[in-house]
Amino acid sequence: MKTLIKNGRIVTAADEYVADLLIDGEKIVLIGAHLDESGADQVIDAAGLYVLPGGVDVHTHLAMPWRGVETCDDFFTGHRAAAFGGTTTHVDFSIQAKGGTLHEAVETWHAKANGKAVIDYSFHVAITDLTDSVMAEIAELPKIGVTSIKMFMAYKDSLQVDDMTLFKSMQVAAKSGVLSLVHAENGDAIEVLIAEAITAGNHAPIYHALTRPPELETEATSRAIWLAQVAGDAPLFVVHCTCEGALAAVSAARLRGQHVYAETCTQYLFFTKDALNGTADDPFDGAKYICSPPLRETSDSAALWRALRTGDITSLSTDHCPFTYAEQKALGRDSFAKVPNGAPGIEDRLYMLWNDGVLSGRLTPSRFVELVATNPAKMFGMYPRKGTLAIGSDADIVLWDGAAEHVVSAATHHSAIDYNLFEGRTVQGKPVKVFVRGQLVVDGDNLMAEKGSGAFIHRASPLLL
Ligand SMILES: [Zn+2]
Repeated sequence: MKTLIKNGRIVTAADEYVADLLIDGEKIVLIGAHLDESGADQVIDAAGLYVLPGGVDVHTHLAMPWRGVETCDDFFTGHRAAAFGGTTTHVDFSIQAKGGTLHEAVETWHAKANGKAVIDYSFHVAITDLTDSVMAEIAELPKIGVTSIKMFMAYKDSLQVDDMTLFKSMQVAAKSGVLSLVHAENGDAIEVLIAEAITAGNHAPIYHALTRPPELETEATSRAIWLAQVAGDAPLFVVHCTCEGALAAVSAARLRGQHVYAETCTQYLFFTKDALNGTADDPFDGAKYICSPPLRETSDSAALWRALRTGDITSLSTDHCPFTYAEQKALGRDSFAKVPNGAPGIEDRLYMLWNDGVLSGRLTPSRFVELVATNPAKMFGMYPRKGTLAIGSDADIVLWDGAAEHVVSAATHHSAIDYNLFEGRTVQGKPVKVFVRGQLVVDGDNLMAEKGSGAFIHRASPLLL
């Protein structure tokens, strides 16, 4: 099956030009001017549209267990939402069970995706219980296509690891072509602050933010950076960087030449911790915005926007971690400490960054592509198969109407979640058609993909930027 996309404005991290693009089967095989239509089975006129590489979201939590509940999007509804937002590949976090192996974690997540996927996917693995045999497993992860591990420096008594685990994991990762990821917050200090808040009778959602101050993210980010340096200059990827202090630590490390990278997530660009105060009608509405690290101040958002432009932030992810407001967030009605941590956003990433980044003049279309597709594909060992439009790359393609206006709403989004952080906002930018490996998966308002058509991507070692 050959599909010819004509007259679109092709955007990569490097270039922007009008051309034709030919897909043969799953791959892009030709890009050029005035390509011959005669050999194509299908011709699509993309005049007036951008032709973008499919988005790559390297931070999601589909069907993730959390204290007796599970995120409400599985690998079908989560993928459906991603596809309608122009994301064609994601990397989800498989999590080692205490006492379990890393292979079991990855197998468990494979089972979650099997038969449901409609976009392509891969897995990180989170280390929660480091033994000698787990150390040996880290070194072998590239053989099963997993080239990134994550250590949580927060969530005491569940996911949190101590510094010895963090350091030893980084050491073995550095030698094995595996990227170390950290959730950087000081979980011990947070635990003390949460206990103090509860003792004082402070239960409202805003106390989620007040018990996780930015200094504790800055401290943990700095600690992880210095530990990575000593652990053989282990390449370090700081997930969801949210505040000026942490960003300064990342920038300083990069200036020293250390292999340190940071992502931020959409919500940190658009909201402050004030959102946790809820609405006049419903103070508990603030629970919708409970995610960790918490939302910060306007000055932090401004610093993140600057870093997106200058390059100190490498990529934009979502940390899509959807818990329903009506039932799951409601588990914490009597205390912020019981509210499941996480916010949705897998569908909203591209158009929010396009609207407030590109259309505002902060980012060029090429920088936009670099942040949402190219850099994450490089950092996570999927480039140039994913993340760009090039001869031989997978035909993961978004035909993007950069001017299409639409109103964001839970009533029309494609996730199973019952709210949307951007509810009611009018934005511009929307996919018209989305292809995954040459297959049309979204056509306007219609999902065209069959369940199970998404494929696991066996990742190579990171291409360090
Ligand atoms: Zn996360």
